[in-house]
Amino acid sequence: MTPAFTVVVPTVGRTTLSTLLRSIDACPPPYPAEIVVVDDRPGSPPPLDLPTTDLPTTVVRSGGRGPAAARNAGWRHAGTEWVAFLDDDVVVGSDWTLRLAEDLDVAEDVGATQGRIVVPLPGHRRPTDAERGTAGLAGARWITADMAYRRATLAEVGGFDERFPRAYREDADLALRVCRVGYRVVGGHRRTVHPVRVDPWFASLRAQAGNADDALMRRRHGRRWRELIGEGRGRIGSHAVTTAAGVLGLAVFAPAGSRLRSFGVGAAAVWVAATAEFAVGRLLRGPATSAEIVRMAVTSVLIPPLACAHRVRGARRARRTVREPAAVLFDRDDTVIVDVPYLSDASLVRPVAGAASALRRLRGAGVPVGIVSNQSGVAIGLITPEQLGEVNARVVQLLGPFDTVQVCPHADRDGCGCRKPAPGLIRRAAAELGVDVRRCVVIGDTGADVGAAVAAGALAVLVPTSRTRAAEVESARRTAMVAPDIESAVDLAMGAMR
Ligand SMILES: [Mg+2]
Repeated sequence: MTPAFTVVVPTVGRTTLSTLLRSIDACPPPYPAEIVVVDDRPGSPPPLDLPTTDLPTTVVRSGGRGPAAARNAGWRHAGTEWVAFLDDDVVVGSDWTLRLAEDLDVAEDVGATQGRIVVPLPGHRRPTDAERGTAGLAGARWITADMAYRRATLAEVGGFDERFPRAYREDADLALRVCRVGYRVVGGHRRTVHPVRVDPWFASLRAQAGNADDALMRRRHGRRWRELIGEGRGRIGSHAVTTAAGVLGLAVFAPAGSRLRSFGVGAAAVWVAATAEFAVGRLLRGPATSAEIVRMAVTSVLIPPLACAHRVRGARRARRTVREPAAVLFDRDDTVIVDVPYLSDASLVRPVAGAASALRRLRGAGVPVGIVSNQSGVAIGLITPEQLGEVNARVVQLLGPFDTVQVCPHADRDGCGCRKPAPGLIRRAAAELGVDVRRCVVIGDTGADVGAAVAAGALAVLVPTSRTRAAEVESARRTAMVAPDIESAVDLAMGAMR
């Protein structure tokens, strides 16, 4: 049986919306339970001009808060198992509903299925810069131009992050969180055409605002965020070098013969070379018409400083708005699993009550999770490295994947720098995740866990058990936070960066 689905289309009232709705109307059954058009125009605009179709269509208002907020308003309105998001400037294929129904017939662990985006390009010449930008959608992972999510999956991770103000990165952020919780995002067979936009002359300059969203991604998901969403290196590093060379090159205006002036000449030469390389690279991929040459020359001068300015603005904003910790690192024994002294038998692994839901909540919020564990049983020969590996694998089987697992196999007498309360494990975990250790929270059941966190510069939450000494709890009340259970500890961690 075909699972029921709702189509959600956020719009700012573009005329392309009518073409989209007609293309859905022309599809064969199964029909959507509802089409939710989310009107995201600010203020009190006149009603949308919608075509007359046979489809049950509802208009929901979201008040100009951006596509993330508009899509959230749409799926929250929907009552079906699946929600198919479409951008308002696409046209669905003639058998789209039929193919979508096939795409939705998937295993329970599939949280989302993505449509195939086709971008028709002019055949008689190379695409312009703007056309290449749109064509990039065809290969992009996780974009919401045609993406169907399970409603329950959206609810579990809290939907789109409304701190992303434009249609950029909010889709990758959502998919990343959905995958962290343990769902798969798969490619479907339905096809949707995304016509090439008629972009204004300055479109490539306007697109630089996306650098602010990259800064938010960096703050939310650490230095490795591009790798996590399957993207290559960005250009911001070379833009920063070009911009710095341009600023330093202003020293060419220093008095003739001064050392400052010769320095300026050198910097200006770097700026000219870097800008030329950027402009030529863009031009070579497009049509060499005189209009395109002028456009590439002018925008290639302006893009690097503009990109840097947006990145700095975004980083400042992210520092203000991101309250979540950069990572939460858990002690293992008596924190996420019930302690069995020198545990070497994987069949004895038992999660602590609440651990699974606490971890799921963090993953859904996009917060990386890790384990930092002392295992001196290895040093004194009570646990073999293989047994340790089997126990940790069982922990993952029961509680889901951890983004980093750091284990100290040494004993006290080894004098290592990683056995808690030394800070080594915490520092190593932060380094592997590519996050600032000062924005990490360590959750553990002993004074050594708190001590290691404090020594590394991280925050700590102690969750005492009956074996935790009163003095350790007292000390933690002064230097860290104390919570009665793992779920309350995660509550504290989520608000710890305020
Ligand atoms: Mg412990």
